[in-house]
Amino acid sequence: MNFIFDIPSTLLFGEGESRNAGRLLKEMGARKVLLVCDQVMSSLGFAERIRNSFVEAGLDYAIFSEVTPNPTDTLVHAAAVFAAEHQVDSLVAIGGGSIIDTAKAINILLTNGGEIAAYEGVHKVTKPTLPLVMIPTTAGTGSEVTAVTVVTDTKRHKKMVIAGRFVGGALAICDPLLTADLPPAITAATGMDALTHAIEAYISKLASPVSDSHALKAIDLINTSLEEVGCNGNKKARSNLMLGSTMAGMAFNSAMLGLVHSLAHPLSAHYNIAHGVANAVFLPQVMRYNLGSFDHKLDDLAEALGIDRHQPDLGEQVVRRLETLSRAIGIPKFKDLNVPVADFAMLAEEAMVEISTMSNPKQATVADLVHILESTYAEA
Ligand code: NAD
Repeated sequence: MNFIFDIPSTLLFGEGESRNAGRLLKEMGARKVLLVCDQVMSSLGFAERIRNSFVEAGLDYAIFSEVTPNPTDTLVHAAAVFAAEHQVDSLVAIGGGSIIDTAKAINILLTNGGEIAAYEGVHKVTKPTLPLVMIPTTAGTGSEVTAVTVVTDTKRHKKMVIAGRFVGGALAICDPLLTADLPPAITAATGMDALTHAIEAYISKLASPVSDSHALKAIDLINTSLEEVGCNGNKKARSNLMLGSTMAGMAFNSAMLGLVHSLAHPLSAHYNIAHGVANAVFLPQVMRYNLGSFDHKLDDLAEALGIDRHQPDLGEQVVRRLETLSRAIGIPKFKDLNVPVADFAMLAEEAMVEISTMSNPKQATVADLVHILESTYAEA
């Protein structure tokens, strides 16, 4: 057996831990920090809380609060110019995956220079980056523990995946209290993103016993908390959902992903559809397509999704559980996202060359991808 398992960042997990951001940065030798956030983080008072921790630790700081969902190359270039003007020596990102990914991209540009598109792919970042602390406020992307950033190329309408050495940050602070008031629609989309990471990592061609243990535990945690969290904001469920999302990130950082992500990226790049929604709509039909290619893992996957492993037709039960969960938490149907059917061939071509297509357990063709798009569109 040969495999690699890598976790780029230290993980600090627990309610209230985000208040330690300033002190921990100071211990890393920081003097002037760039705080990366968006207007929502400012209006919720989260940015202010982190800023106060800088003041308490005696750190100088600058704030970039203009991040938008599905961050673009133009955004990260403007942010990097701002960071360079302020001569920061470290970064803190507080927010969803878009903010964490923006901070990672700024960090690459500050230390490696040039255009962000030059780093698309794996191990293209060659120089060490600055200390980066990442504080997620969604339980979804796992970006706080991955050596990956996703930035949209506005000329090519493509989500560029930049991965490998020096892309990840130094420290992830997962404070579930920051997700307590996450609106139901964002909770649902980001939670399904996390579940997709865990499932795709589990059945990936690059999975290992170590990624499997993280992936299975993540599936169990997310499956048992996602509906509950949507209903009543239960604290324990919020904590489990965040732990599940972070463990899913640890799993896919090494095992990589599959066709759900291959199809979701062009969808977000062309129509600016939220990443979690794009994943959630494709997950059931991709899993149906993949049936037969992960038989040795089907029992454990079904059990982690709360299904009795002795039931007949287990693969179909798994697909149905994913459909039922999506409907229960209000994920829209593909048909309702207004994606033109005439674009399916183009979307399939683009999905075919996505990096995640390589690690999917079944080798897909463009015709297979068109079929998945059509069957997802036809869902009742
Ligand atoms: P997001 O960061 O785009 O945030 C979505 C919305 O939720 C934003 O408007 C944001 O302000 C709001 N929000 C965030 N936290 C909130 C809170 N606590 N309360 C209220 N509103 C809040 O969404 P996301 O799903 O976390 O991130 C998606 C991005 O991450 C995509 O660009 C995707 O490609 C990328 N991604 C990266 C990785 C990685 O490993 N780097 C993995 C998966 C996805």
